Amino acid sequence: MIVVKIGGGVGTGFDNLLRDMAGRKDVILVHGGSDFLNKLSDDMGVPPRFVTSPSGHTSRVTDEATLDLIRMAYAGSVNKGLVERLRKEGVNALGLSGIDGGLLRGKRKGSIRIVENGRVRILHGDHTGTVEEVNTSLLDLLLKGGYVPVITIPIEATDGGGLNADADRVAAAIASAVKADDLLLLTNKPGLLKDVKDDNSLIRSVAEHDIDQAMDIAEGRMKKKVLAAREALEGGVKRVVISNANAQRPIESALNGEGTVIC
Ligand code: ADP
Repeated sequence: MIVVKIGGGVGTGFDNLLRDMAGRKDVILVHGGSDFLNKLSDDMGVPPRFVTSPSGHTSRVTDEATLDLIRMAYAGSVNKGLVERLRKEGVNALGLSGIDGGLLRGKRKGSIRIVENGRVRILHGDHTGTVEEVNTSLLDLLLKGGYVPVITIPIEATDGGGLNADADRVAAAIASAVKADDLLLLTNKPGLLKDVKDDNSLIRSVAEHDIDQAMDIAEGRMKKKVLAAREALEGGVKRVVISNANAQRPIESALNGEGTVIC
């Protein structure tokens, strides 16, 4: 079994991935939707806001209005659009958010520590969390029935309701829970780059004990992918590959080790 996560950032195309999924039954697809959400947020008059934690991770501020836009963007347009297109390719896709059947559950953070103007402060009322439980019996049921699950946020709070969660880390939690051999994190770059402005500076492999170093090289959103890679390996996944979603055959290429291989 492999878990493939496709990002939803600017410049990440879905077309090649969708074609590459045709005929595959060994895949669980997890997807993002950040570009679509940013545009929707602007259109709805709730411009996106991002904050940085003291450890340098950036995340979206998720108030009630933003959580509702996440439902519309991720669990709505992007998820249903992907399922529709996969089914056209002959893939028996079935879309789920983390809420459906209690698929992905985690504790509500409630408040987060952020850095603002060089000072650390607490932001209250944030609807975010991380996955602590995966309903593997639901996934087994779907996989045994011949469905290809297409999964996205929100996840379900253990005290009820929806939560925003990082999709790379969601994919890592699912890959760990189903004991996947590979977790493929497909994005708009060839992998982890030494210099983010130079696509030729690809780091081809990272050993598990060098992940801290990789974390220092990664900036912004790439940090979350490296963190997700660490969580997946700790969870028993054999190999994580950060790779280009725009490759001709992105799954095939990543499985062949093109990109940054972390194991
Ligand atoms: P996704 O939507 O696939 O999750 P993001 O766009 O959120 O992807 O994150 C990938 C981005 O991370 C890249 O487009 C790049 O701008 C940024 N990034 C920061 N540091 C690095 C790095 N060292 N190597 C590659 N990308 C990096």
